[in-house]
Amino acid sequence: MIDLRSDTVTKPDEAMREAAHTADVGDDVYGEDPTVTELETRAAEAVGMEAALYVPSGTMGNQIAARVHTDRGQEVLADRKSHVVKYELGGFAQHADLQVRMLDADRGVPSPDQVAAGYVAEDLHRPGTGLLCLENTHNARGGLAIDPDAIAAAAEAAHDRDLPVHLDGARLFNAATALDVPATEITAPVDSVMFCLSKGLGAPIGSVLAGSSEFVERARRTRKLFGGGMRQAGIVAAPGLRALENVDDLAIDHENARRLAAGLADVPGVTVRDPETNIVLADVSESGLETETVVDRLRERDVLANPMGPSTIRFCTHRDLSREDVDRALERIEAAIV
Ligand SMILES: *Cc1c(COP(=O)(O)O)cnc(C)c1O
Repeated sequence: MIDLRSDTVTKPDEAMREAAHTADVGDDVYGEDPTVTELETRAAEAVGMEAALYVPSGTMGNQIAARVHTDRGQEVLADRKSHVVKYELGGFAQHADLQVRMLDADRGVPSPDQVAAGYVAEDLHRPGTGLLCLENTHNARGGLAIDPDAIAAAAEAAHDRDLPVHLDGARLFNAATALDVPATEITAPVDSVMFCLSKGLGAPIGSVLAGSSEFVERARRTRKLFGGGMRQAGIVAAPGLRALENVDDLAIDHENARRLAAGLADVPGVTVRDPETNIVLADVSESGLETETVVDRLRERDVLANPMGPSTIRFCTHRDLSREDVDRALERIEAAIV
């Protein structure tokens, strides 16, 4: 099976299993798990924040951030195709009593003018805006690596209005790798950032939410509220620590994505955008086939991919896929479509 659905399908390697096996652990709700503490310290450093919190999932990290940054009833500004809008079950409404004001942002990052226009000042009739949420890489728009300048400009427009900024950086290190900048340059203008250990970095479980010490202290209580306080979590944090050493390998995934895209571009009926990171969006509408049909035919040939709407299929490269797998997948995709 060649699984191109997501980088979340990566399985822990031997080094990660060994790390889990030998991890020094304690009760992390009491703050006594040395492995979790080490992960939080190293993760905070990696994103240039004062402190960090280990969380079970990226979704929980984003939800905690929204809850901590805002007051109930406020608005959140976010791109209409962002993960927090599309794929978190409306969690901002459920967990923090927020309403989202969606922006249609070029490349998924709102311009300063869009932030200004979307901002609502609190008065007798209006709830007030409480947060700007950004995303990098931008998943649904095709794994776009958002330039630090664009993040900084949006963040400045928000800060001018006393709005905090949260970055959904599930694939932050893919963005940093693609742009060849330190992750800290991308995160410098924002107040909090979430990144996933469980995607391209290859850990089995877990994400990190980072920010100021005060923010993380409040986030720790909210994590408990959301049921995310874990006990001997060092068992899963240890592979997460190993995962932080896999950042350099993301460049290989990006190379494989470019190889996949170049091959797809040669398949009749397929239009493909140049990938910026490890996500390839292929439009199959000119083949005359529905995406569901293509995905079913691929499955029959032991290739897995995710349909994204009626015309687009998402392919995602990751560390459990070799260059040869990409070539084999391409042969089967061509056979399925032509
Ligand atoms: C995967 C993803 C998340 C959520 O992470 P989970 O660990 O799956 O909950 C959030 N934002 C983006 C952009 C993602 O791609």
